[in-house]
Amino acid sequence: MTRPSFPKTIFEFNQWFSDEESCLKFLIQSRWPDGFVCPRCGYNKSYWMKERKLLQCQQCKYQTSVTAGTVMHRSRMPLKLWFYAAYLVSTLTPGISALQFQRQVGLSSYQTAFTMLHKLRAGMVRVGRDKLTGIIEVDETYIGGEEEGKRGRGAGGKVIVAGAVDLRGKYANRVRLKVIPNVTQMTLTAFVKSNVVEGSTVKTDDWLGYNKLESAGYNHIVSTDLVHIHRVFSNLKTWLLGTHHGAVSKQHLQAYLNEYTFRFNRRGTPMAAFQTVLGLGTKRLGPTYEGLYGIAKHSKLAWVHPNPKKKTIKGGKK
Ligand SMILES: [Zn+2]
Repeated sequence: MTRPSFPKTIFEFNQWFSDEESCLKFLIQSRWPDGFVCPRCGYNKSYWMKERKLLQCQQCKYQTSVTAGTVMHRSRMPLKLWFYAAYLVSTLTPGISALQFQRQVGLSSYQTAFTMLHKLRAGMVRVGRDKLTGIIEVDETYIGGEEEGKRGRGAGGKVIVAGAVDLRGKYANRVRLKVIPNVTQMTLTAFVKSNVVEGSTVKTDDWLGYNKLESAGYNHIVSTDLVHIHRVFSNLKTWLLGTHHGAVSKQHLQAYLNEYTFRFNRRGTPMAAFQTVLGLGTKRLGPTYEGLYGIAKHSKLAWVHPNPKKKTIKGGKK
């Protein structure tokens, strides 16, 4: 058995995932493409306990949850709803806001819609992903607030986002985006080091925050032509204003950057993103509502949106 492929249209989606049973089947096939094997004794025959979404080993009776380790684990929402949300966020170019999602599927609670989308966003960052190579444009931008802030003198309520994009010929290839606290040499050099392979060519403007790149092992070129990263920033801002009405809080911005990056880097293969978003094949727990909102703020339960530098997820159970 191989991994199942993906529905290519909304009609196919409805045919494939008409009920909970078909979603479960897809889940099992995605998680155990070579057939289920008991994690305790290695036996390959199991009973299917439909009501509890469990597979029970026929030999040692060990029970394995089909949804454990995915974003759907312990959720009271139907699998079909999760699948539909994953389909929307991975295939719709502008993504979807929590309010739009709530209305589309008729959820009574905005909080449920909001938390589901954030859980899916948690599946969008691959820990230990490749760094960019070749020719890379790097710049920073300010998000939020009403007017342009002065560089290097504090963003005045705005959030600073650093961005890098590598080029393939004349085209932008992959992008990396990260919320940064300031635009000092230390911060910008660290951003480049965690996202770009040493020895690559890095193009920036003449801001002195980039002056240490040469000594950090990069071929640094100061240029006025940074058209690709500028286009990324401008599309990012349009998306935040359009889909999300500019209402993204500072606290959650990194999650939205992750979502934007995820779709940008998979724009050629949106369907393949579907399984990734659901957290199939990876062990990734999403945030809880308490973790996302004030209740758990400053406590151990506070959710920290994953970014390339953070390898641990606070608040997630091991
Ligand atoms: Zn067993």
